[in-house]
Amino acid sequence: MTNIERHNYDVVVIGAGGAGLRAAIEARLAGKKTAIISKSLFGKAHTVMAEGGAAAAMGNANSNDNWMVHFRDTMRGGKFLNNFRMAELHAKEAPDRIWELETYGALFDRTADGRISQRNFGGHEYPRLAHVGDRTGLELIRTLQQKIVSLQQEDYAATGSYESRIRVFAETTITELFVEGGRIAGAFGYYRESGEFVLFEAPAIVLATGGVGKSYKVTSNSWEYTGDGHALAMRAGATLINMEFLQFHPTGMVWPPSVKGILVTESVRGDGGVLRNSEGKRFMFDYVPDVFRKQYAETEEEADRWYTDPDNNRRPPELLPRDEVARAINSEVKAGRGTPAGGIYLDIASRRPAEFILKRLPSMYHQFKELADVDITKQPMEIGPTCHYVMGGVEVDPDTAAAAVPGLFAAGEVSGGMHGSNRLGGNSLSDLLVFGKRAGEYAARCADETTKRVKVPAATLNAAVENALAPLGRGEGGENPYTVHGELQQVMNDLVGIIRRRSELEESLGRLADLKERIKKVGVGGGRRYNPGWHLALDLRNMLAVSECTAKAALEREESRGGHTREDFPQMDPDWRRVNLVCSLQGEDVRLERKALPTMRSELMRLFDRAELAKYLTDEELADFDAAAE
Ligand code: FAD
Repeated sequence: MTNIERHNYDVVVIGAGGAGLRAAIEARLAGKKTAIISKSLFGKAHTVMAEGGAAAAMGNANSNDNWMVHFRDTMRGGKFLNNFRMAELHAKEAPDRIWELETYGALFDRTADGRISQRNFGGHEYPRLAHVGDRTGLELIRTLQQKIVSLQQEDYAATGSYESRIRVFAETTITELFVEGGRIAGAFGYYRESGEFVLFEAPAIVLATGGVGKSYKVTSNSWEYTGDGHALAMRAGATLINMEFLQFHPTGMVWPPSVKGILVTESVRGDGGVLRNSEGKRFMFDYVPDVFRKQYAETEEEADRWYTDPDNNRRPPELLPRDEVARAINSEVKAGRGTPAGGIYLDIASRRPAEFILKRLPSMYHQFKELADVDITKQPMEIGPTCHYVMGGVEVDPDTAAAAVPGLFAAGEVSGGMHGSNRLGGNSLSDLLVFGKRAGEYAARCADETTKRVKVPAATLNAAVENALAPLGRGEGGENPYTVHGELQQVMNDLVGIIRRRSELEESLGRLADLKERIKKVGVGGGRRYNPGWHLALDLRNMLAVSECTAKAALEREESRGGHTREDFPQMDPDWRRVNLVCSLQGEDVRLERKALPTMRSELMRLFDRAELAKYLTDEELADFDAAAE
């Protein structure tokens, strides 16, 4: 009989990035016994890597900013496919969540008169990103961890144990969620170091596991982004939406090959950096789509004036939303105007003094100096698109963050809907604070309301152990997990990448079906003690499930919108804007359904010009809008 460590909690939070930590703080503040589980070391999550900042309409840098402008920008960025209620809550609550962080001890950069400084970012009408140099995520995580430590100190004073009400289980991977009697009953996983198994029984679980980038070959994401939360949710009976929408960040490093994909923050462009092709042309002026033409400068002179006089000039086209910039770079490289390493030049050296660059972008300076031996105060950077963020995720109730399975909640990058078809930079850090808090609050309420706690039956537990041990049982004679992972990444990169076509998407589904069979035969040598091959073997089925969702939804959606570009359907189609593609699992197969998007409330609709709405809405929707306005 395999030994299994057992724990009982009111709320279990899976993930220790910004969303998970904020949820855990809220659950603990509501008096719940809370566990935080993290696959990586505590403190190492993607949130730490966030460079540019957190978007919140505080109006510090421009007093014209407010939640309505932020809401409009977010909806525009998402091409109106966002869950409007999430975008509304996000825009309204983000400033409070940032201010609250300062009460926890965060120290954001300041304006000359002592307010929180805010910087420009793509798609945001006003400077809106609260930041700490280019290390904002680090400060965010440091502060949330500090708050957790202070809560643990309170608990020690009250109970004599630091871990009596909030405990962190680091380097612990969850592989299964248990549902009993139609509701969440617990989570099962293993300690990465010892390989020992652990069961957490709880009536409420918050998924905060982040994204899926490791299914792609070129990505800014690190090893733990294997879509675990997405797959766990589906296997528990919840649904995913918008999985066709992946954000390819326009500026990843392209050289040297060993670091290809690592992010170059958008702040480089926000602070004056421009994109040039191999002929030296500042090409973004050629790629401003009609829907954005009114907001973006037509000449270099106007664009350059905007940095010092934003009220009387329009924004530079380098600050278009990420999907637009990534597609433009892709087109320039394809047309033979790329750099030697297959990218484009990002130049801040010729536009800003060295002291400015070193002060505003210290991490970027070090990243290029150390990894590529490039001094960005003297030379341009070579950059290109990299898989960065998944807009798709667990379908949740906007107010409570509840998923379709009672007791299951999701927040942060693992949840879907908030960003529609494309996320604006800076909107993730604010998203995870707003909805992390909400998820923690409602998970705590759920724990209160669950009077009868269900035990996980022994047979269910045994099956989870058996699943986890299967790759070790097959030993080295099985399929090699690294080979299979490499092939999966290549399929997704080549056939479900930034520009998609029917024939390639169909081919990808055939290749994924083959890989699914091979994953069942993956085997690894060695034992359970720190065995990365075994860990990858267990992650593979998650990556495959989410990749299948992405490929299926990308084939189904016959239009181009945000992070989904079909070469064979290059336009946005207003009828498709009304549709969410919803993925669920039937046995092992991904089922795809169409579901109508919720209709935006009329007072929110009226925040937009009719002319702008006409670019996105169907005639029928416009007629309703006109009728309501009369
Ligand atoms: P994460 O912070 O990634 O945390 C996920 C957690 O889940 C981790 O603790 C992980 O170990 C854990 N986990 C995963 N699977 C399991 C499992 N099976 N069992 C247990 N634990 C598990 N956004 C912005 O708004 N502004 C920026 O400036 C910005 N810059 C970025 C720069 C980079 C390089 C990258 C990669 C992203 C950036 N983003 C930015 C995006 C943003 O950082 C992420 O979307 C966000 O931090 C995600 O937070 P999260 O809490 O949802 O997940």
